[in-house]
Amino acid sequence: MGEIINVREIVSKRKEALKVEIINLKKQNIFPKLVVILANKEESSRSYINSKRKLCEELGVIEEEYILDETTSTNEMLELINKLNNDKTVDGILVQLPIYKHLNEEKILESIDSKKDVDGFHPLNLGNLLIGKKGIVSCTPKGIMTILDSIGTEFLGKEAVVVGRSKIVGKPIAQLLLARGATVTMCHSKTLDLKSHTKRADILVIATGVPNLISSDMIKKGSIIIDVGINRVDGKIVGDVDTNGALNYCKYISPVPGGVGLTTVLSLIENLIEIAKNRKN
Ligand code: NDP
Repeated sequence: MGEIINVREIVSKRKEALKVEIINLKKQNIFPKLVVILANKEESSRSYINSKRKLCEELGVIEEEYILDETTSTNEMLELINKLNNDKTVDGILVQLPIYKHLNEEKILESIDSKKDVDGFHPLNLGNLLIGKKGIVSCTPKGIMTILDSIGTEFLGKEAVVVGRSKIVGKPIAQLLLARGATVTMCHSKTLDLKSHTKRADILVIATGVPNLISSDMIKKGSIIIDVGINRVDGKIVGDVDTNGALNYCKYISPVPGGVGLTTVLSLIENLIEIAKNRKN
């Protein structure tokens, strides 16, 4: 019988370490500051921002929010980001996605100073990941590695299968696993015979947004499964994996809710603190 990973405990330990780092920064007169820009009306975005705000408050990080209405133009948003790029008291700038349809998302994300790109979505940071150069790693993949490291995952020579190829989860996590010496297979909606791939996986990362896509017969015995999916089914939040079925075969599985979502927010603050440490006063 497999084990559900206690992600809350992992996060709680990391928070204690972060608190010490933040206190040390404050002693050097560095007060880490995150700026969040919201340009949509989606309920889920508000709830993501709330969880970010809550963690900032808990850790003693300054958090500022700009809530923009539908009349905001791309140019106005670019001006705001430019102002924040030049503000030495701002360490991290985060544009909560999605943004209003009329806005030029690519232009807006690329206008964020890559050194303040706390989400790690800037092409320069994604490119650094690809070539193995130090940069800001996007939060969900970074958080997945935190979970895998915390449970003592071995990567060298292991088969890692990633299902989903988005630029915020699938592609970056595949690069991180590759960098650690795993043999990585990437699957997506056009993959033929998904099961033949997942069945080989020592480490299986699923990020599709398809509830119960992975059933127990698709899992290798003794594997480690990270379920990134967040889906609302009959008023309940579920992942992309049939967790109960998977527990009969896997060694570890991350829960949903209370799994990757928690390490994603944690990684955001970890990125912010790394940026703040490099701040030149
Ligand atoms: P996207 O919609 O951008 O990408 C989904 C990926 O899944 C695509 O690559 C798609 O393939 C693939 N896919 C869809 N259906 C299938 C299928 N039947 N078989 C195989 N692959 C399939 O999603 P995101 O990466 O942004 O998010 C994925 C999930 O993770 C969502 O549920 C989201 O809510 C959750 N999420 C959770 C986070 C957290 O912090 N816990 C953070 C970010 C996301 P193709 O490219 O061919 O279309």
